[in-house]
Amino acid sequence: MPFADILGHDRIIEVLRRSLRSGKTAHSYLFEGISGCGRKKTALALIQALFCPALPDDACGVCPSCRKIEGGNHPDIHLIAPLPDKRDISIEQLRELQHDLSLRPYEAPRKACIIDPAERMSVSAANSLLKTLEEPPGNALIILLTENAGMLLSTVRSRCQLIRFAPLSPEHVVSLLERSGMAPETAALVAPMSGGSVRKALELDNESLTVRREAVLSRMGQLNINRIATVFDAAEELSGNRDATLELLDMLLSFFRDAVHLGAGSEDIVNRSARGAIESIATRRSFPRNLELLERIYETRRAVQRNANPKLALDQLFMGLADGR
Ligand SMILES: [Zn+2]
Repeated sequence: MPFADILGHDRIIEVLRRSLRSGKTAHSYLFEGISGCGRKKTALALIQALFCPALPDDACGVCPSCRKIEGGNHPDIHLIAPLPDKRDISIEQLRELQHDLSLRPYEAPRKACIIDPAERMSVSAANSLLKTLEEPPGNALIILLTENAGMLLSTVRSRCQLIRFAPLSPEHVVSLLERSGMAPETAALVAPMSGGSVRKALELDNESLTVRREAVLSRMGQLNINRIATVFDAAEELSGNRDATLELLDMLLSFFRDAVHLGAGSEDIVNRSARGAIESIATRRSFPRNLELLERIYETRRAVQRNANPKLALDQLFMGLADGR
């Protein structure tokens, strides 16, 4: 993929493009950042740009070389990861890699490899790689990916150019999820809870987000100030540890924002598939009351963040939500 398709890492890409233009890319890179923030995409884009004969500092995306990399079947790229059922990357795998790198490239100007996750190289495997990192055979490009460079041998770190990737902003996560085909409302729901990782966002979606959302909406619909058990039961079921409670509050915020939008006559809502339930939140109380509750949810979120007891905070909040007015 051309660099323009990578979101959120403009400064890093500018540095890489400058080194491509001047022909001064490093032999070995260490890309550090959380899983799912774009390290591997950037690594592949760098290799693609290096191999592409059409442009000096980017991939054209359409030549045979670019298309093979996009399709994951370029013969001069080696991807190294722990073998199935194995925890570590073994010394045998790295010996084989070093042999492969020493052979003449099939079609690219040089060979390239990505080792992911690099912290899973056994100590002996990592030690066997030191010389290769310093002087890769055939001028090969080596890119190590890690979540934490501190977990690598200092001798490995010192032989690589370290590039640090920041977590993605929620807006960038939303854009990337939508590009991957996720419904905009689901993307808007999971992005704030993803910690800046597209992978985490996809896991949230797969796990049970829809189920949890249904559970929350159903509990909200049952809240009744005259039957106080409905309040405490809901708080009991929906409160968890701090992170789980913050996730629940993010969900409530998105419901009440939507309800306020509907109440104001706007159709700009994110929870479209739960429109019925959002409408009943919007019509159950007056518009000013819903605005007030939206503010209360924000306050509760801040309190939980500052260490308030999740269950007690939800008890109080749900009392407010149960009270019609
Ligand atoms: Zn190309």
